[in-house]
This record gives sequence, C-alpha cells and structure tokens, in this order.
Amino acid sequence: MTMMTTTAPILVTGATGYIAGWVIKQLLEQGYTVHATVRDLTKSSSFQHLEQIASQTSGALMLFQANLLEEDSFDEAMKDCEIVIHMASPFLVTNFKDPITDLIDPALKGTTNVLNSVNRTDTVKRVVVTSSIASTYGDAVDILKTEQNQFEESHWNTTSSAEHQPYFYSKVAAERKAWDMQKAQSRWDLVCINPSLVVGPSLTPSTQSGSVEVIQQFGNGMTLFGVPPMWNGLVDVRDVAHAHIQAALHPKAHGRYIINAKTMTLLEMGKTLRQHFGGRYPFPRMIAPKFLFKLLAPLFGYTRKFVDLNVGYPIYFNAERSKQELGMQYRDVETSIIEHFQQLLDDGIIKKCG
Ligand code: NAP
Repeated sequence: MTMMTTTAPILVTGATGYIAGWVIKQLLEQGYTVHATVRDLTKSSSFQHLEQIASQTSGALMLFQANLLEEDSFDEAMKDCEIVIHMASPFLVTNFKDPITDLIDPALKGTTNVLNSVNRTDTVKRVVVTSSIASTYGDAVDILKTEQNQFEESHWNTTSSAEHQPYFYSKVAAERKAWDMQKAQSRWDLVCINPSLVVGPSLTPSTQSGSVEVIQQFGNGMTLFGVPPMWNGLVDVRDVAHAHIQAALHPKAHGRYIINAKTMTLLEMGKTLRQHFGGRYPFPRMIAPKFLFKLLAPLFGYTRKFVDLNVGYPIYFNAERSKQELGMQYRDVETSIIEHFQQLLDDGIIKKCG
C-alpha cells in the first residue's frame, strides 16, 4: 500500500484549465503546496484567478511554464513532488482544425513527456491522469454490446481514430500509454480518473474547455430549433476535482474510476435551463429527428457517421467504484447546469437577454 505524505508539493499540469482551477483551489484550501504548470507564463490573465485564490488560502502556489510538446518541459515543476496530477490535454468538441496537431499529439506526446519526467524524478510515488469516459467507449451505439446496459471501468474504446471521434481517440491513446509506462516500472503507481461531461461554474472566463462549448450552445441559438435525441453522462466540476484529490491521496486508490452523477438528454438539459431562466433564452423545446440532424450535421461540425453511431442511443455509466473506494457523493447536476449557465452570463460569454 502506498502511503502518501502531505508535506511535499503536488504538481498539477494544465493549471489554466476549467477542471484544474477547482483541483488547485481545493488543494490550496487544504493547505498543500501546489506546483502548477501553465503553457505561457507571460499570459497572466489565464492564471490570475489562481494567484488570487492562493492569496486567500493556507496553501502555497508556485507557477511553472511547461508545454506538452516539449520533452523536458515538466522536469523543473516536478522537482520534489510525490504526487503528479496530469490534467493538461485539449478538450475540443468541434472547435479544432487538425485532429492530429490540435488533439492527438498534445494528448499522447504530452502524456509521454510528463511520464518521462516522472521516470526521471525519484520523489514521485503516485500519478493521477485525467482520462475520460471517452476511453471506455467509442460511440453511443457501443452500449448495445454491454452486458448491464452501462459502461464500466473494464470497458475500453477500441473504435475511435484520428478520422472518427478524434477527441475520444486522443484520450484512449493517452490513457493506454500511461498504463504501459506505469507497468514498465515499479516506483510510482497510477490512478486514472474517467469523468463524463463536466458541468458547473468555472473559476475563470478564459477557459476554452469543451464543457463551455456545450453549455454555450444553449444560449447562442444553436439549439433553438431542437436538439438531437442524445444522452450525456454529467458530473459537477467540483466533484471531479474532489475525485482527483481522493485519487491522489487515498492510499487504496488504484486503477480507473468512472466519475459520473447521472445521464440526461440534451432536451432535459434545455428544460432544466428554461425552468430556471424562463423563455427569454433560445432553449430547445423539441427533439430534432435523427434524419434531419444527419442532413444538417456538417453545418454543426459533425460527420454523418457520427450521427449514425451516436444519435438515438441512451448511454449510462457505472460510477459505483468511485462511491465505494473514493467516497464520492455526487451533487445534483441540474443545479450545476444552472450555475454554469449563470456564470457564462455573468462573464459575458453568453449574451444576457431581457
Ligand atoms: P481546458 O479548460 O481546456 O483545459 C485544458 C488544459 O490543457 C489548459 O490548461 C491548456 O492550457 C492545457 N493545454 C492544452 N494544450 C497544451 C500544451 N500543448 N501544452 C501545455 N498545456 C496545454 O479543459 P478541461 O475541461 O479542464 O479539461 C481538463 C482535462 O480533463 C483534459 O485532460 C480533458 O480531456 C479532461 N476531461 C474533461 C472533461 C470535461 O467535460 N470538461 C470530461 C472528461 C475529461 P492553455 O490554457 O495554455 O490552453
């Protein structure tokens, strides 16, 4: 059993990110010293929220510059750390040009570079990698092949590629690489966190996370004429942050953990928002039939193959391990969706109506 000490610094990669902000906040509030990597130390607008949080907590924050695509980039930040939480990786749903350079290279080369630094840093005992449910299945239709009608930690995504579901491919390729590198040595252990779609308020308006893209579409008119029959596993960002900290510090944490509160359809998400914010925003009122969405899919950045394999299949996730072993108790995600929309309004990312 690996016993974690609490005095060594904890490294968090991708500190400017949506989820990373909450991980760092919770660690600082618990008094830890956090070594946080950002891609560009001159871009203070992307991390000033962290400095402000640090000034109000008992923890200490040290910022380092590191790029996933540069080989030795993480060595300095990792010095003296016992725990490494590797979160940095692009999460872009449709908002990318080249799947290899924009998604797959940073995920896969980034994980390799970070774990090579771990191999060079004798103090590291545990690594937590932020993977995704995207590592457990390739398309929603895969649910038909599961025994219990739910995706579990024993399932792996075997169908995504650079051409089809490239974000999903970036996550499964990076997670597999992490397990391969862990198995090749015996000093550090690995825990993977596999969250579903993360929702809830961000600590910074500057994140480009796909989570923002998803909530934003409910406010920018994209869903006004209906949403396809699609289901999402959802979980609050603060719960995902807590899961990372449990995975980092709990002596018995091991393997992969699906982190998910519940499944909702896009229409149910829209209804939740309308009940709270009223009819002045362009929230969806109906389901757009699959054939119509398939016809229009390229306009929204989706392929017709994606529609065939993902629209019309309800998906569910088994997060029991996270409850039993990490002590997770999930928040009500309807509230998280409302809080997230409100934060995007407050930050001017969604235009206020009425
Ligand atoms: P995010 O806000 O976009 O964070 C991504 C982070 O990765 C940013 O800090 C970004 O830095 C960093 N990054 C990207 N490319 C980099 C590079 N070449 N070098 C250094 N840093 C780089 O997204 P997020 O939603 O918090 O996602 C964080 C992690 O959670 C990712 O691994 C994602 O796959 C995973 N995840 C997210 C969700 C979700 O629903 N949000 C669900 C499951 C898993 P910059 O600020 O410099 O761009």
